[in-house]
Amino acid sequence: MKLVRYTDKGGPSLGVVKNDGVIELGKHWPAVRDDMIALIKMWPDIASALPMLVANSAPDAALTDVRLLAPVDRPGKILAIGLNYADHIRETGQQTPPHQIWFTKAVTSINAPFDPVQLPAASEQVDYEAELVVIIGQRCKHIAKERAPEVIFGYCAGNDVSVRDWQLRTSQWVLGKSFDTHAPIGPWIVTPDEIVDPHALNIRCLVNGEQRQNSNTRHLIFNVFDQIAHLSNAMTLEPGDAIFTGTPGGVGLAMNPPRWLKAGDKVRVEIDRIGAIEAVMRAEAL
Ligand code: ZN
Repeated sequence: MKLVRYTDKGGPSLGVVKNDGVIELGKHWPAVRDDMIALIKMWPDIASALPMLVANSAPDAALTDVRLLAPVDRPGKILAIGLNYADHIRETGQQTPPHQIWFTKAVTSINAPFDPVQLPAASEQVDYEAELVVIIGQRCKHIAKERAPEVIFGYCAGNDVSVRDWQLRTSQWVLGKSFDTHAPIGPWIVTPDEIVDPHALNIRCLVNGEQRQNSNTRHLIFNVFDQIAHLSNAMTLEPGDAIFTGTPGGVGLAMNPPRWLKAGDKVRVEIDRIGAIEAVMRAEAL
């Protein structure tokens, strides 16, 4: 299943994708409104009825006629791992970390999958990071790696947009990773029935059509299940929490000279079996 948040003529809605269209879920389950986290919490009730609904319903709107929104607009938390692909570690001159390196992105950095991303007035060193994003499906703590698949609701494509001078001039990366609009995710959540193995997905980033990153999630150093097991030792994970799982080599920072994003640049992140998100870079209006 591909689950979307979108607007058409009315307010935000939740939907399930069928072919090139979207079936509105609120008509059938009014309690979910436009709230993906509510849908995730109700999922055990909804999941069994959904295939029949999809089979028997015509789409309410064409995907080309709606504006897609971030599938989760306000996750309880956004967690992101650093230095998790060998080629990215090499290009940044670092050593493979013995422990998982975690930082957070502010929840206000969430952005819709095709909306513009801000080039902040405070920096000229804005960079892209194509990443597989995991959305958590249940409240959980102390999840063994073997059981991690049970708590995954689904997967998105994401761009861990990074303001490199703000990120690297202090030991904590949080501010450089938390500018408004710097966590675009989408275009939808793909449930695990369509992604049997999250560690076999090609992942790419293109800037103005030029391929900058091209890897596969099999190259993750700490895989998705390792990440959930590790995080859940420390904190309760909750429905809708978003986990950015790391970026491969090819970021603008590592080029000589570095190639920072400019106004008008189109940044596209593509992941097999999920799809693509794309943002035009736009100078922040003050
Ligand atoms: Zn990242």
